[in-house]
Amino acid sequence: MRQGHAVVLGGSMAGLLTARVLTGHFARVTIVERDELEGTWAGDPAADPRERAVRRGVPQGRHAHGLLAAGLNVIEELFPGAAGELAAAGVPAGDVLGNVRFCANGFRLKQVPIGLRALSFSRPYLESYVRSRVFALPGVAVRGGTDIAGIEADPARARVTGARIHPRTGAPQTLAADLVVDATGRASRAPRWLGELGYEPPAEERLHVDLAYVSRHYAVDPALLDGDIAIIVGPSAAAPRGGAVMLQEGGRAVITLFGILGDHAPLDDAGFRAYAKRLPLPYVSDIIEASPPLDDEAVRFRYPASTRYRYDRLRRFPKGFVVVGDAMCSFNPMYGQGMSVAGVEALRLGEALGRGGELDAPRFFRAVRPIVDIPWQIATGGDAALPGVQGPRDARTRLVNRYLDRLYATAAHDEVVSLAFSRVTNLLDPPAALLRPGIARRVLGRRRPATA
Ligand SMILES: Cc1cc2nc3c(=O)[nH]c(=O)nc-3n(C[C@H](O)[C@H](O)[C@H](O)COP(=O)(O)OP(=O)(O)OC[C@H]3O[C@@H](n4cnc5c(N)ncnc54)[C@H](O)[C@@H]3O)c2cc1C
Repeated sequence: MRQGHAVVLGGSMAGLLTARVLTGHFARVTIVERDELEGTWAGDPAADPRERAVRRGVPQGRHAHGLLAAGLNVIEELFPGAAGELAAAGVPAGDVLGNVRFCANGFRLKQVPIGLRALSFSRPYLESYVRSRVFALPGVAVRGGTDIAGIEADPARARVTGARIHPRTGAPQTLAADLVVDATGRASRAPRWLGELGYEPPAEERLHVDLAYVSRHYAVDPALLDGDIAIIVGPSAAAPRGGAVMLQEGGRAVITLFGILGDHAPLDDAGFRAYAKRLPLPYVSDIIEASPPLDDEAVRFRYPASTRYRYDRLRRFPKGFVVVGDAMCSFNPMYGQGMSVAGVEALRLGEALGRGGELDAPRFFRAVRPIVDIPWQIATGGDAALPGVQGPRDARTRLVNRYLDRLYATAAHDEVVSLAFSRVTNLLDPPAALLRPGIARRVLGRRRPATA
């Protein structure tokens, strides 16, 4: 029987997906969030513009946000029928490889349908859909407009007993809880809270990328994409900047340009267009030149570093507390992994609780280690291939990156290799799948063509 009270700190994607899972284990689940949160979803973005409104707590919502196949699987598992409902509401839908044009290191990967659905939406629209499904669940309560001040522990400091909260329109108070989940994102103060309780805080791993996302909405004629719902042009060693065009609900598209180590796209029209022209391939620039902008100017989001807190290495951790999502690991957004990883973590948390009784947080952190390790390797390894990034530079990473260069060239022509690569980047298969003999033979047996 479900009993007890869980409190989720942060009502963004990690918090919402975790709250959904916790409703299977606790009688009451309270989400605490600084922003006021709407719980309705009419489906028609034109009818209710709030569904695509960017909230203060999630400023990245203005920028291209792709959901990997692994993440869509989680959404569908937690909210059966979600993908169909979103597609029926007008979210551009297609095949994850057949209709998503992905370019890596100057090569356009061969596109074939692989039978996995992809959706292309704005981040706020997806979040408002998920929120409406979570808020409708029995036992869920929401404390919007409320700042999280910290956590409370018992006198022995062995167990977290609740969260200190500060509603904007009331007095500070403590919410008692059997489990407190920190889903407050990359600015999480959990390392500090642990230190204050006398625990060793987690070690921090950082990879400095000094990335900026610069985005603008356009009225893009879908015919310009030739049947694709999204185009992603990744950086190459020769031109370490990239861009994405993503069709969205309501007939708009977002175009995001990104660059690292200070090579940031300008916000003004002329500068934005000139920057796009110097991407490794012309697809994004071609769409910009053919489409009327909908926003006066582009907007920027700066992302200094990928950050991973090694909770999985801690020996002591208080009972009744756990950390998920970007608060545990924030990945370079170019790889589109954060929401999907948060979703898989939520499922694992459910499994950890399913084993009965109390959550063994250190065990949970160890169980999610591979779920974080793999996308972390993909992101930091990929970044290390770009000039100037002080990423892992060991012989193994250099070898892997040389292999990947050949793989991209092969995948431009070879659908078996393109499919294998797509499954890895969509977090469906581990990177080791790209070294299987059937793939390696194709990659190493082919001479790299001189051009894409
Ligand atoms: C520019 C950019 C582009 C991205 N693109 C992608 C993509 O394409 N695909 C993808 O999967 N992921 C992407 N991500 C990552 C993705 O946004 C996150 O992984 C995802 O939102 C899950 O994060 P989270 O819920 O853990 O934290 P967040 O989304 O950061 O949410 C934290 C929440 O906690 C609340 N909060 C924080 N502190 C307090 C406090 N003290 N009191 C009250 N409330 C508080 C905030 O208001 C917010 O709602 C991108 C990120 C960035 C920055």
